[in-house]
Amino acid sequence: STQSTPTTAATAAQAATATPAKATDPFIEDLISKMTVEEKVGQMTQLTIDLILQDNEAAVVDNAKLRDVLVNHNIGSILNVKGRAYTMDEWHTILTAVQNVATKETRLKIPVIYGIDAIHGANYLAGSTLFPHNIGMAATRNPDLVNQSAKITAIETRASGIPWNFDPVLDVGRQSLWPRFEETFGEDVYVVKTMGAAAIRGYEQDNLNTDYTVASCMKHYLGYSAPATGKDRTPSYIPEQMLREIFLPPFKAAVEAGASTVMINSGEINGTPVHGSKYYLTDILRNELGFEGVAVSDWEDVIRLHTRHKVAATPKEAVRMAVEAGLDMSMVPYDYSFYDHLIALVKEGTISEERINTSVRRILTLKKKLGLFENPFPKAELKNAVNKPEFDQVALQAALESITLLKNEKQTLPLRKNSKILVAGPTANTLASLHGSWSYVWQGNEEKQYPAKAKTVLQALQSEIGKDKVVSRSVADFGAAANYNTAQLKRDAAQAQAIVLFLGEKAYAESPGVIDDLTLEENQQALVRAAKETGKPVIIVLLEGRPRVMSAIEPLADAVVLAYRPSTFGAQAIADVLFGDYNPDGVLPFTYPRFVGDVLTYDHKGTEIIREDVPNVAGNRGFNPLWQFGHGLSYTTFAISDLRVDRTSFGQNDNVRVSVRVKNTGSRAGKKAVELYSHDQYASITPSARRLRAFSKISLQPGEEKIVDFTISAKDLAFVGQDGKWVTEPGAFDLMVGDQKATITLQ
Ligand code: BGC
Repeated sequence: STQSTPTTAATAAQAATATPAKATDPFIEDLISKMTVEEKVGQMTQLTIDLILQDNEAAVVDNAKLRDVLVNHNIGSILNVKGRAYTMDEWHTILTAVQNVATKETRLKIPVIYGIDAIHGANYLAGSTLFPHNIGMAATRNPDLVNQSAKITAIETRASGIPWNFDPVLDVGRQSLWPRFEETFGEDVYVVKTMGAAAIRGYEQDNLNTDYTVASCMKHYLGYSAPATGKDRTPSYIPEQMLREIFLPPFKAAVEAGASTVMINSGEINGTPVHGSKYYLTDILRNELGFEGVAVSDWEDVIRLHTRHKVAATPKEAVRMAVEAGLDMSMVPYDYSFYDHLIALVKEGTISEERINTSVRRILTLKKKLGLFENPFPKAELKNAVNKPEFDQVALQAALESITLLKNEKQTLPLRKNSKILVAGPTANTLASLHGSWSYVWQGNEEKQYPAKAKTVLQALQSEIGKDKVVSRSVADFGAAANYNTAQLKRDAAQAQAIVLFLGEKAYAESPGVIDDLTLEENQQALVRAAKETGKPVIIVLLEGRPRVMSAIEPLADAVVLAYRPSTFGAQAIADVLFGDYNPDGVLPFTYPRFVGDVLTYDHKGTEIIREDVPNVAGNRGFNPLWQFGHGLSYTTFAISDLRVDRTSFGQNDNVRVSVRVKNTGSRAGKKAVELYSHDQYASITPSARRLRAFSKISLQPGEEKIVDFTISAKDLAFVGQDGKWVTEPGAFDLMVGDQKATITLQ
């Protein structure tokens, strides 16, 4: 085995100090001093290469291709995006081959940094643990679950020999058409910030040189998630004030949490492509946020400054623009265009060698922090570190805590286990809708790669109450006219006490997920109407990555459950909620629109409503979403009372302690996400209706009560003024928890 053979570079690394490598790290500086321009530019280049020669058999790596990439072209980073999951053995074969060539056959023996999208779990590793997508993780209001899932993902990713994860997504989901909405932690900046930082701490744990951590990648910096059209990678138009108040803070929090790398938005803000902008990549990212790590472009983006954005007249100009803006690494990912042009630009003196040294220094520092100079090889003993029952427990718990009970008339839910149910709908018997994007297979039509332990909802329901109690029809087609007509449904329903319809979306990722209409497809709505005609209770369960408008059929349903993309244990979690084995506690991480034309988030400005005082004035549609941000029912009831503040007047440096009493007034144990909102009564720019400032999830036994404490400072109540600066202006602020309110005044 080659795995423990130290390289020359490794020996040097061990001799170097263990302190974090800055510009003064002698080991890194020595290496840079020995590098040719080609070798430096190679470090800044990331390629994707299909290294497996014989697919679906024992992996045989294409060493000739590898040598061309690593030896002839000095490439320093590889990413893999093949549309299927590899086994642990295949990953070890690939990574061993890569690092063998890199550290034994290249002149300076610099290890490769391999990156992967281990999004909602190590989805490129067959059999790995997959967690709910971020949109569901946000609904849990439980940052600890986010942190634990990141730790598990890091273990499984690192075990396969990969030290760099392109996650977490820190884009704030403010455009529900956007096909990557499910990858976000929703519409609220505080939730995104809190969950994102929890993920980064889980991935990195302040030490990258371990067997259980990976470098994280905050993405997609900046403004990716608000395309005006809702289509992926199209322009967003975001006023500077809003950019700084809503979209930037998660990245700031992530830098503070120790994020090692950042991926740049493929799109553009106000006509400026972010990957070509010195303002975004240097002035804000480096100078304001103080980020010192590696900035990598997204897929094929540098060349697109020329081909798509048309801000660079030639491909070479595109490379100059991106590098001068501050990019460290280009995810090219197919050819040597970036490599060749950057070499030429440095050799002709257009870009200084000092400039590329800065990027190379960041990249080599990251490799060193990851311990790659000591040992870049996958470790055989880690092969068994994956797929543990305790990992599955976390995935199940996350799915349980994500599920959001939106409606429950006359206690339709939970269902009794001795009742017979009719199960129908396009998401009832598919693993793809449960898993969504980035899940072993892309685009979701192949069901065979999901792990054997994954169940469809139909299968989970059959094991929950017995096959004989589940009447099922699969309606496989999402968009076309239903192949399940009213007459059939009525016949099937005759045998059942309730009808559970599984609706929502198939799996998609990025552009294939683009839609023109947020409304749930007509054939799905037709199912609900047919179900209603039977007179039996109708329960809708939604498996979807974004809020599909359903207000026409919502009144026909007795209960509505939103399960987002709960992944491998999602079916079990749904069954547990439907039959009362779990008391749901998820709450909405976004505003669920009533109409396609509803574009307001919960923190809209008061002036978005024409007349708040006269809601029925002509033309005043008000703010009337189908369900509010933070909404989520339980099988028990909670009473919130006694909101108290320890002072009603405070200064810029004071803390205000806020407490509230929460009591479980029902007959079941349950968890409650207690949320504190604020409202600035008057401000120099129009204040938002309310803003989430803190949350805390507690468990309560029937009859039990707890006091929940929050601490709020003037800083927590700040907003970004017209001058682009954070400010908390003196004056009155309302603090709200549930229907309780207190007012405090900043002197
Ligand atoms: C996505 C990124 C991802 C990259 C590499 C791009 O298409 O936008 O989120 O990290 O591909 O797979």
